[in-house]
Amino acid sequence: MPYSTSQKKGKSACEICSQFKKSESTYEKRGLADPEENTYLNPVYKELKQIKEIENVGRFAAIKQCPFCEQYYFHKTDSEFLADGSEFEQWLVKIESTLATKILESNEATQREIINEHPDLNT
Ligand SMILES: [Zn+2]
Repeated sequence: MPYSTSQKKGKSACEICSQFKKSESTYEKRGLADPEENTYLNPVYKELKQIKEIENVGRFAAIKQCPFCEQYYFHKTDSEFLADGSEFEQWLVKIESTLATKILESNEATQREIINEHPDLNT
């Protein structure tokens, strides 16, 4: 499926980024008979390009970027394995390019500090 690649229209015109609110979170319980309460990210999030993976207390986290409008995202996943099925949570947060740049230019310890101290990222 072709996406709009025009940057001149501004970020709101991006077909990928317009699918996401400023902050998204999902919760899935896998392995249960009733998955109707599960929430999922719009699958277009897979179009986002991973810029850098961040070591964040054992969870997966990464800075991602929209390949079309250059919007940065903070993507974090957390999973827990339980006897009756695993729990899987995701957060996808739009971040300013200044914050993304600050994280990308920092070492791992500082990255964790920035993320832990940022109210939008420390979920
Ligand atoms: Zn975009």
